[in-house]
Amino acid sequence: MSKIFRLFIITLVLAFAGGALAQETPDWTNPFPPYRIIGNIYYVGSQGLAAYLITTPQGNILINSNLEKSVPMIRDSVEKLGFHFSDTKILLISHAHWDHCSGSAAVKELTGAKYMVMDADVPEIEAGGKGNFQYGDNPTSRYQPTKVDRVLHDGDEVRLGDTVLIAHLTPGHTKGTTTWTTKVTEAGKTYNVVIIGSPNVNPGYKLVNNALYPQIASDYERMFRVLKSLPCDVFLGAHGNYYGMEAKYSRMKPGEPNPFIDPDGYRSYVAEREQTFRAELAKQTAAAR
Ligand SMILES: [Zn+2]
Repeated sequence: MSKIFRLFIITLVLAFAGGALAQETPDWTNPFPPYRIIGNIYYVGSQGLAAYLITTPQGNILINSNLEKSVPMIRDSVEKLGFHFSDTKILLISHAHWDHCSGSAAVKELTGAKYMVMDADVPEIEAGGKGNFQYGDNPTSRYQPTKVDRVLHDGDEVRLGDTVLIAHLTPGHTKGTTTWTTKVTEAGKTYNVVIIGSPNVNPGYKLVNNALYPQIASDYERMFRVLKSLPCDVFLGAHGNYYGMEAKYSRMKPGEPNPFIDPDGYRSYVAEREQTFRAELAKQTAAAR
């Protein structure tokens, strides 16, 4: 068998296994044009998996490494924007699920970036996804175990150059799901940016009597309290579909208001997600009686 053909078969098998068990969808790997969102924040993800580059005079911060195979795409996006991937000094994630962190080992290797992860997600990251309360036994949800260089705690600041990011613990979706906030300046105005870690209850999540995550429901409650308390002008998240990324991208026009400035969209998204969580919790509570 030729090497190319063998590679093709392996790719097919991996794609099938990933699709069947880990629900990988084509938009996760569809390329998307990189672009500047606002200020020093750039979109360098795929169509479905968001990744953000935050540039500073002292080097850059990358939020989310996505799938292992996303890394060359992220690198190309960074370079297309005129930055150097090797200037990535800090790597952050939205949460310890394979679709946001599988590429972290490769990013560290290629750039030497310091990997900073919220405390409650650190054991899973360093075990390559083992121990996750929902997917820990699922081999297709695993990734390369990756050493964390700095353990973050709720409210910690990540500083580089003139940029300050704040790590907000917004747990439930994973135990250490992190919502990132920062401020950007554009045309003399300052805006509050929120990058939601994930407010979603995945299919199969047990909100009641969850032996591996007993406090899951109260963690979701805490997460929604935090999200509702954050001032938000620029609404972003771990997947583009949280905030209508593609539609907003297509509405970006010189001289027009920046579509990513969307405080109402943020509030209604968080409210809708909270209602969905509460409906699911009520259903599971009734079923457990
Ligand atoms: Zn997730």
